[in-house]
Amino acid sequence: MKRWQKLLLVLLAILICSQIPFAYRRYRLGRLSDAILQINSQRQPKPDEKFGEYKGVVHVHSFLGGHSTGTFEAIIAAAKQNQLDFVVMTEHMSANFNTAAMTLKDVHGDVLFINGNEVSTPTNERLLIFPGDETAVMTESSAIADVLARTKVRGASALVAYPEEFKSWNTPGYDGVEVYNVYTNARTMNPFVMLFDGLWSYRSYPDLLFATFYARPANGLRLWDDAIRLTGKRLVATAGNDAHANVGLSLNDASGKRWVGFQADPYERSFRLVRMHLLLPTGEALNSGSLVQAFSAGHCFIGFDLFGDTTGFRFVASNGSDQKIQGDEIAAGNGVTLSVEVPVSARVVLLKDGQVFSDQTGIKEKDYAVAEKGSYRVEVYLPQLPGPVSAQPWIISNPIYVK
Ligand SMILES: [Zn+2]
Repeated sequence: MKRWQKLLLVLLAILICSQIPFAYRRYRLGRLSDAILQINSQRQPKPDEKFGEYKGVVHVHSFLGGHSTGTFEAIIAAAKQNQLDFVVMTEHMSANFNTAAMTLKDVHGDVLFINGNEVSTPTNERLLIFPGDETAVMTESSAIADVLARTKVRGASALVAYPEEFKSWNTPGYDGVEVYNVYTNARTMNPFVMLFDGLWSYRSYPDLLFATFYARPANGLRLWDDAIRLTGKRLVATAGNDAHANVGLSLNDASGKRWVGFQADPYERSFRLVRMHLLLPTGEALNSGSLVQAFSAGHCFIGFDLFGDTTGFRFVASNGSDQKIQGDEIAAGNGVTLSVEVPVSARVVLLKDGQVFSDQTGIKEKDYAVAEKGSYRVEVYLPQLPGPVSAQPWIISNPIYVK
């Protein structure tokens, strides 16, 4: 055998060996797909007479902000396909026009759209404000305290986006923290690994590629838990899809028609990964006012619905005289009972002030007697899922504040 032939054989052997992990990861996604089907077929959510549940997504960009080419038609179609009840648009600002006035608002195809903004301040702190308005264009030159004060005057809601970069925790006026962001999480992925995962698995499991990088947002959760403890305020946690529909590879002709290529993050897929589930008292209609109020009150939870529909999760409290839901305050009195209900048997972790209070597997319903004051919240996991996703949260609740 000639020397170049040997070299070629060695290179071929290296190439084949380097692909084994990716082939194995594709096999694991197949098992995950089967496990998810089983979870969705086993779901037995209990009916709730007191609250209606609405699911939707928060933190969506269209072509208006400049970073995206996504059209309104694509966003409406994706929301309908996902049977969403609401979509909170968060357009970047423009110095020349009011993006909040121009983006999707009101009802389109049975989906409620809220016209919000993502704004950044001179200190590089970013907020999601919904509904937005033309004062959003002033935030680039305004102190964050003024931005938040203006938001409150208008009765709008403000969430801290990218909490790792936020410094003004003691400034009043924000309602909560976006503890998880799909885009931020995806960027932690090694591009080499992502490329080969894409080559091996994109055709069969385009949605489940999310599972190859999804990780519990430990930093965001810690900053949120700390902010609640330090400020003594009630703060809602949300998850952001940060959907842009601008990640992918394609070759287009002069008119923009695609010849070849694929889009890694179309809205339709992004809206399937993680959703906010909002609770409104039975009989109350979903509209801009009730949505903003429910978000500000923390009457919602984060559901990674890709791994199984989280609809029907409940976290409530009673103290004998009062009954409250997640986001609410309840008097400690003679002791409080916290109750958790999950649609399928799961591992339920109850946290008090950010520390694990109880961690048990095989739970569908459970009551916890608590005597101490504090903020209690729940993370739900699905140990029946294979691979690393079994150790990442499926549901993240908002807290019940025992005072
Ligand atoms: Zn964004």
